[in-house]
Amino acid sequence: MAINSLRSWLRLLNEEGELAVINKAVSTKFELAGYTQLYDGEKPVFFPKVEGYDVCAVSGIASTRDHFAKALGCEKDETIDRFLDAMEHPLPNKKVDSNEAPVHENVINEDIDLLKMFPIPLHQEKDSGPYITAALAIVRDPETGKQNVSIHRLQVSGKHRLGALLLPRHTFNAFKKMEEQGKPLEIAIVIGVDPVLMLASQAIAPLGQDELEIAGALKKEPIPVVKCKTVDIDVPAYAEIVLEGHILPNIRESEGPFGEFPAYYGPESDKEVIDIHCVTHRNNPIYQTCLAGSDENLLLGAIPREASLLKSLRNTSAGVRKVHLTKGGKSRFHLVVSMKKRNEGEAKNVILASFAGHYDVKKVIVVDEEIDIFDLEQVDWCVATRFQAKRDLVVVNDALGSKLDPSSEDGVSSKIGLDCTIPLNAKPMDYEVTRIPGIKEYQKYDSVTDTLPETLSETYLSID
Ligand code: MN
Repeated sequence: MAINSLRSWLRLLNEEGELAVINKAVSTKFELAGYTQLYDGEKPVFFPKVEGYDVCAVSGIASTRDHFAKALGCEKDETIDRFLDAMEHPLPNKKVDSNEAPVHENVINEDIDLLKMFPIPLHQEKDSGPYITAALAIVRDPETGKQNVSIHRLQVSGKHRLGALLLPRHTFNAFKKMEEQGKPLEIAIVIGVDPVLMLASQAIAPLGQDELEIAGALKKEPIPVVKCKTVDIDVPAYAEIVLEGHILPNIRESEGPFGEFPAYYGPESDKEVIDIHCVTHRNNPIYQTCLAGSDENLLLGAIPREASLLKSLRNTSAGVRKVHLTKGGKSRFHLVVSMKKRNEGEAKNVILASFAGHYDVKKVIVVDEEIDIFDLEQVDWCVATRFQAKRDLVVVNDALGSKLDPSSEDGVSSKIGLDCTIPLNAKPMDYEVTRIPGIKEYQKYDSVTDTLPETLSETYLSID
C-alpha cells in the first residue's frame, strides 16, 4: 500500500497500534519535545490536545529503520538500494488543481501570527525560542526553473517572520542569485508530510534535481502537487500546512542558539530572514515537529547519505558491500564499510573515498565482507584483532568537516580511517575464526528444561 500523506501513514500505524497517543493537554514549552524523546526509536507520538491551541501535533513519525522500510514498502536491507534506484530514476510530479488539493481548504492572507495559529514547540533548554523543524522548504531556481527541496531549522522571530539557517547548498545558491539583483526569493514552507517525502528531501542530489521527483520514484507514483496561492512554487497537495513567503535580500538577523543533531547547540549569529504573507492548511490540520538529535532526525540524515556513499565507494572498489553510519557517530561522522578486498591496499582507497564522499565523515572503519556492520560488537572485535595502527591507520589533518562538531576548528577537522581487513597474504590459520562444529543444530534441540528433575536434584543438590 502506498503512503500518500501524513494521514495515511498515521492511519496505518494507528490500525497496528503503533502510535503513542498522549491523552492530556501538553505544553509546547519542552513537554511536547519531552514526550518525543521518551518514545524516540519506538513510536510516533500523537498529541490530540496542546495547551492554548485547537490544532493537534505529531512528532517522531518515523524513528527506526523499520519505519522507513515500512513507509517505502520494502525490507529493511533493501532501503539503501531502493533509495539509490529512486535517485537515478526520478518521477516527475503530477499537477492538480487547487480545488483538488486538501492543503488549499483554508487560505489565510491577513493577520498572520504563526505562534498563535500553530503549536510550534520550544524544544531544548537553551534554544532561542520556538522552532519549525520538520518543514520542507521549497524554492525555484530563478535561472533553471527547477525546484529544490530541503529542511532547515526555522526560528520564529516575529508574527510572520522566520530566521533560517541556510547552509551553502542548493537553497542558498538560488537565494544568492536573486539577492545579487537585490530581489527576494520566493519560498514555500511545507509542514505535515509522510516519511517518504521527508527522506527524499535529504537526498544528496545534484543541483537542479527536484527532490519531490525522487519521492515520486520511491513511491512508484508521481507526487500530486498544487501551485501555491501567491508564489510560483508547486507543493505537495496532501500536505497539512504551507507557509508562503520570501527570503528577504540584504537582511540578516539574530538566529540561534538551537540544539542541533550532535546534541550540542548551534550558535547564535545573524542569518537569512523569511517573511510569510500567506498560509494555507487542511481542515483540522496536524502540526508536525521533529526533535533535533532524535533517532528520526539522525535516520533522515543517515539513509540518504548511506545511499550516496555506497554509490561512490562502489565506484572506487567494486568489492564494497554495505555501509553504516552509526547512531553513536550521530549518523554523520562515523562510517563502517564492509568489502571483499581483492587487492592489497584497496581498503585504504575506500577510506580516502569515504572522506571525499561526504565532508561530514570523520572516522571510517573498513572490515571484511562477512562482518555484520550493524553489529558494533563485531566491528569492535575487528578493530581489536585485525588492526595495527602502524600499517592500517590513515590520518588526514585539516580537511573540511562539520561545523556542528564542536571539537573542529570552525569545521576544519582531522579524519581517521582504520583498515581492519585481513591481509591477503595472511596464513590461513592466523585468522581462522573459532567455531564449534554442529552449533546450529544444537540450538534446534528442545530437550532442555530450566530446572533439574527432582530425582537428580535430590541426588546432587540436596546436601552441601
Ligand atoms: Mn537539492
